[in-house]
Amino acid sequence: MPGPIPVTESPDRVPVLLPYPFPGPFDYRVPPGLRPRPGDVVVVPLNNREEVGVVWDAPADEAVPEHRLKSVVGVLDTPPMGVSLRRLVDWIAAYTLSPPGEVMAMALRVASAGLLRSVVRYRRADPLPAGRITSARQRVLDVLACGEPRSGADLLAQAGASPAVLRGMTGAGLLISETARPDQPFRRPDPDHQGPALSEQQRRVAGGLRAAVQRGAFSVTLLDGVTGSGKTEVYLEAVAACLRAGRQALVLLPEIALSSQWTERFGRRFGVAPAVWHSDLASRVRKITWQAVAEGQAPVVVGARSALFLPFPDLGLVVVDEEHEAAFKQQDGVVYNARDMAVVRARFCEAAAVLVSATPSLETVANVEAGRYAHLRLTRRHAGATMPEISLLDLRETPPDRGRFLAPPLLEAVRRSLAQGEQAMLFLNRRGYAPLTLCRHCGHRMQCPNCTAWLVEHRTRHQLLCHHCGHTIPIPPECPSCAAADSLTPVGPGIERITEEAAAVFPEARRLIMASDTIAGPNAAAAAAHAIEDRSVDLIIGTQLVAKGWHFPHLTFVGVVDADLGLAGGELRASERTVQLLHQVAGRAGRAEAPGRVMLQTFIPDHPVMQALLGGDLDAFMHSEADSRRDGEWPPFGRLAALIVSADTAIMADTVARDLGWAAPRGDGIVVLGPAPAPMALLRGRHRRRLLLKVRRDVPVQPILRSWLASVHVPRGGRVDVDVDPISFL
Ligand code: ADP
Ligand code: ZN
Repeated sequence: MPGPIPVTESPDRVPVLLPYPFPGPFDYRVPPGLRPRPGDVVVVPLNNREEVGVVWDAPADEAVPEHRLKSVVGVLDTPPMGVSLRRLVDWIAAYTLSPPGEVMAMALRVASAGLLRSVVRYRRADPLPAGRITSARQRVLDVLACGEPRSGADLLAQAGASPAVLRGMTGAGLLISETARPDQPFRRPDPDHQGPALSEQQRRVAGGLRAAVQRGAFSVTLLDGVTGSGKTEVYLEAVAACLRAGRQALVLLPEIALSSQWTERFGRRFGVAPAVWHSDLASRVRKITWQAVAEGQAPVVVGARSALFLPFPDLGLVVVDEEHEAAFKQQDGVVYNARDMAVVRARFCEAAAVLVSATPSLETVANVEAGRYAHLRLTRRHAGATMPEISLLDLRETPPDRGRFLAPPLLEAVRRSLAQGEQAMLFLNRRGYAPLTLCRHCGHRMQCPNCTAWLVEHRTRHQLLCHHCGHTIPIPPECPSCAAADSLTPVGPGIERITEEAAAVFPEARRLIMASDTIAGPNAAAAAAHAIEDRSVDLIIGTQLVAKGWHFPHLTFVGVVDADLGLAGGELRASERTVQLLHQVAGRAGRAEAPGRVMLQTFIPDHPVMQALLGGDLDAFMHSEADSRRDGEWPPFGRLAALIVSADTAIMADTVARDLGWAAPRGDGIVVLGPAPAPMALLRGRHRRRLLLKVRRDVPVQPILRSWLASVHVPRGGRVDVDVDPISFL
């Protein structure tokens, strides 16, 4: 009788996922003595190099014969990638049609960059064991005589010893090596430090969130409340509940420039700073933070979307603040929406997800209506502050002076706020001086050679700049087309030009420009926020950076220079996004005692978007927006995926796009639009075409996309990018 198949405790081969766009993991042989387990970070050979990868779960696809397998080199002494994070990687890869290694790379990049180089320091054994002391060894011992441990690099430099000497001495027990690690880099936030006295309504909502966290199970809640209603204070109570439950919490913010006011608020509530995570962290901080998260020593992390890939061992709460924000969508590399993936991560962690917004996305509202998400509302501003009074300024009737962009009633409103010692804000979602530079003589438009885009004048830098590829030229003295001198003229305003105009009208007002190119990084943002809070600024001129969750108590007037701007492209979400953006901007006004006023300059005051903003009835607007999408089965009532073809040449782009068009999937509930030239038909020198797949909600998109893509050959120099649930159609 055949005996049972022997089960070896450690398998002799393991699948290892490498941070590259391979279709899946590769198998490696496990050498004797090693017992790599799923999630372990390992070093393996790949094309004559050594690479860091992660032991994965599913066996690799192709059974490579045993004798051709290469061996795992070693297991790194770092926390393994936990099962919920591995599931998230697999899920995102499958959903976005990305190679799993590329998704895993987002989680690993940090780990390998930081942890491989954790500093090893040496001290002298005491007492010294008997051993041969060469002169090199003696020099090392001399350097260490004072007792302070030194890094290997230090010793090499100061003692002139080779790495082999250090190894030999460690082996002989003359040196003790230790891995230096800061202990407890993050103090524990105290959930009982100093909670605010919540209003009746706030208390009810906070109770709902707390209960969701305490259940210790997956749930999603929309926290929907008017601007200034205390949403942040309320969800911090959910964070407190999570801390009391001994689990970790993650708060995602759309824009890291926002985080200064947020972290200060967190500090007031919990007595300590949270761990902060974004891609610009110094590498040392990055490493410390990553390690602390992995070891459960960072109880609360606030971060940008990449924080989703941190190795939380026990995540109990994920908050997505400003969940409607397009900034949560990553457009490069793996194209994913961090808001949606936060919900997925919460599911794998048995955590509560809380989506927060004053202007929730239609997707989230649809999920509430379908009963998938719970819904909690804050309907009143805190401490009796009233909602700002909004008015429309019809530019057809009250135009600005010739060559100007601010109409007299708007200037008058600014003047009034300033005269009362309050602050005013001008909002225009466009950086630079002018979006277009035109030759008055021949009509030539200054265009980017690499993109379907105009060059934007940045007057302070004396440059014309492409906002898509970064192409820059000095402002030419004559027209490059007709050579007419001094004929180039700016058309339309950017915030630099608005600043110039405001400076001419209000020369005594202290101005602050807030845009991504003037406020570079969190420190600059914090400084700007403090300047506004301290009232050392009177007039703020900004792009969408100012629309975010700022709380500026002395700001009482907001003027929107061009309320129609976002409606121009006619994209699917143009109306929704314009309402969200302008409502957020308006929400900066009058957040404390003094009431706020908002004025929107528009040429289309009757447009439903302007009427929705005027009446403040966003629910009604969202309902009618939903109705118009439901009919055509547009998201969220249908699903979309975009294929973006790009190639070195226009001919190749056309060929690939045409082949995709011929191979387009057919069937009940499936529609393919295109191919068509992308609105940005040229981007960074690449020719682009688009196809759009639209399917009924009950039709799974990924299998269709997979077989569609497999049926078309893409030559070298061409590629097809997939964007599932696209929000940009450029
Ligand atoms: P939202 O996130 O809804 O825009 P915030 O949470 O920023 O609102 O609250 C607006 C302001 O009111 C903040 O300065 C906040 O600290 C303050 N606030 C809100 N609720 C309370 C409360 N119960 N007690 C004290 N201050 C509060
Ligand atoms: Zn360009």
